[in-house]
Amino acid sequence: MKYFVFCQSDIVLEHTSDGYQIPIEPPVALKPWTTVMNVDGDRAYRIDQPIDSPDSRYEMCPLRQSYYKLSHDDYLRAGKCQELLYWDQNTKFCGVCGGPMRFDTDISKKCEHCGKEIWPQLAIAIIVLIRKGHEVLLVHAKNFRSDFYGLVAGFVETGETLEEAVRREVMEETGLHITNLRYFGSQPWPYPCGLMVGFTADYDSGRLHLQRSELSKGAWFDKDHLPHIPEKLSIARQLIDYWLEEEAPR
Ligand SMILES: [Zn+2]
Repeated sequence: MKYFVFCQSDIVLEHTSDGYQIPIEPPVALKPWTTVMNVDGDRAYRIDQPIDSPDSRYEMCPLRQSYYKLSHDDYLRAGKCQELLYWDQNTKFCGVCGGPMRFDTDISKKCEHCGKEIWPQLAIAIIVLIRKGHEVLLVHAKNFRSDFYGLVAGFVETGETLEEAVRREVMEETGLHITNLRYFGSQPWPYPCGLMVGFTADYDSGRLHLQRSELSKGAWFDKDHLPHIPEKLSIARQLIDYWLEEEAPR
């Protein structure tokens, strides 16, 4: 059994002789009021204070950075645990009657008063790589944490298909029409509870006109003049790497 223990957005990692692992015993004594979730046979819970580990046995690590320290499987499990803990924290009371919510199964709750049942909900976002000849459209969104360029992305709205969301976001953010829209793949994005759905497309028509409320910079780039691009853990980077392979000389 593994212990996925979080303090805010940091996860507790244990040093091993050649790297890091998820602790296999509780790294810190539990408070009586801590909610411990059972996630696929492992345990997940939150602590109030970062672990102070004088013998350096444990280390607090931002969940994103744990991608580079854990196996891919453990990174995905950690993300799932973080999402479920976030869901638990935000659903202590019933949205219908205000009564206390209690766990009914490992991933559902029921209101003690009115019986309302709830399950974790995902925020679904689309992300799209747009090609034009041998160039790709890269944009810098105002909410990016650093100076890299990424891809056009945005949340799916109620009543929309994924394809409609892609076309709408591309039009809103860039003023462009696209064609050859193709599904690429998807990725859980536990920051805090998302699913990113990736697409590729080709430029069809229109002049690039950035939505200044969302994007600060954006342009077409060829493979030899790329700006800083997103980190390896993101589907944005997987899409860009896929395009780079397409563009590589054969
Ligand atoms: Zn209720």
